[in-house]
Amino acid sequence: MLVAVLLLPFFIGVTVCEDDETMALHFLNRYGYISNTRSGNHDVGTAIRQFQDFYGLQVTGRLDASTVRLMKKPRCGMSDPTPGSRLRRYATLGKWKKTDLKYYVQPGQDLPHDEQRGIFAQALQFWADVSGLTFSEVGSASEADMKISFGRNSHRGTNVEGTCPYPFDGRGGVLAHAYFPQDGRAHFDEDESFTHGTSRGVNLLWVAVHEFGHSLGLQHTNIQGAIMFPYYTGYVPDMKLHSDDIAGIQYLYGANSGGGGGGGSDQTPAPTVPENCEDRSSTPCQPYKDAGYCDTYPDNMKYWCEKTCFNCQE
Ligand SMILES: [Zn+2]
Ligand SMILES: [Zn+2]
Repeated sequence: MLVAVLLLPFFIGVTVCEDDETMALHFLNRYGYISNTRSGNHDVGTAIRQFQDFYGLQVTGRLDASTVRLMKKPRCGMSDPTPGSRLRRYATLGKWKKTDLKYYVQPGQDLPHDEQRGIFAQALQFWADVSGLTFSEVGSASEADMKISFGRNSHRGTNVEGTCPYPFDGRGGVLAHAYFPQDGRAHFDEDESFTHGTSRGVNLLWVAVHEFGHSLGLQHTNIQGAIMFPYYTGYVPDMKLHSDDIAGIQYLYGANSGGGGGGGSDQTPAPTVPENCEDRSSTPCQPYKDAGYCDTYPDNMKYWCEKTCFNCQE
């Protein structure tokens, strides 16, 4: 509510339709360009400039046609990295403390179940091929590190206590999202039409490789052509990881030594935290602190709930 009131004057005199204004406000809030707390950026013009800069658009600070068009394209539901960080390479946010990860698939409705399991195995293999990681499928969510599921609107996923705090939005828009280590949940929007080996619909393999990048600790990059670029770029018959994706995963887990379980850096890289002390989460951080998330998911909490984590340490 505070944000909506603060932002209203900006739009007076701007020639975009009301639907686009509403969409843009929602978008800039959702993806971290406008702060949901009292501190941080509440200026829409600044938020639009940061969005345009991150994606290499002409920086006008206005909702021009190319900005609105990009905001409306199908994409991953995870936030973009710290606005204004001028990222030009991969970024990371936490890592698994082991390299042999177990995953469980609760298939969706669009493709035969065995085909989906094959696609997810293939998607994980992209990351295994270039890193010290190995993956094996297990038959129940309770045994799994990574839990893959489909759902629509305010979905539950496989393993959760209640609904996921990030609702899906019907067809188009957000396609999927995944939690950073060491959480392991990856959710795909059941309202999309996921396909395999065709340019019709949304290519499940591409989306899965991208989401598993998050599951393994990679953030969004603004390098076009990288798998970790936030926007869905359509079906690519001969999909490959970009050198930026490979550099990111090898930073976290080392290169594939041939025998699995490769090196990796000894220390978890420090998450990129905003310079000003603010919570970046779109939902209040206190309930997560109360639920023990500072202990369970310290990297996530340090990134999304910096103030809360300072309080945790008191
Ligand atoms: Zn993403
Ligand atoms: Zn979810």
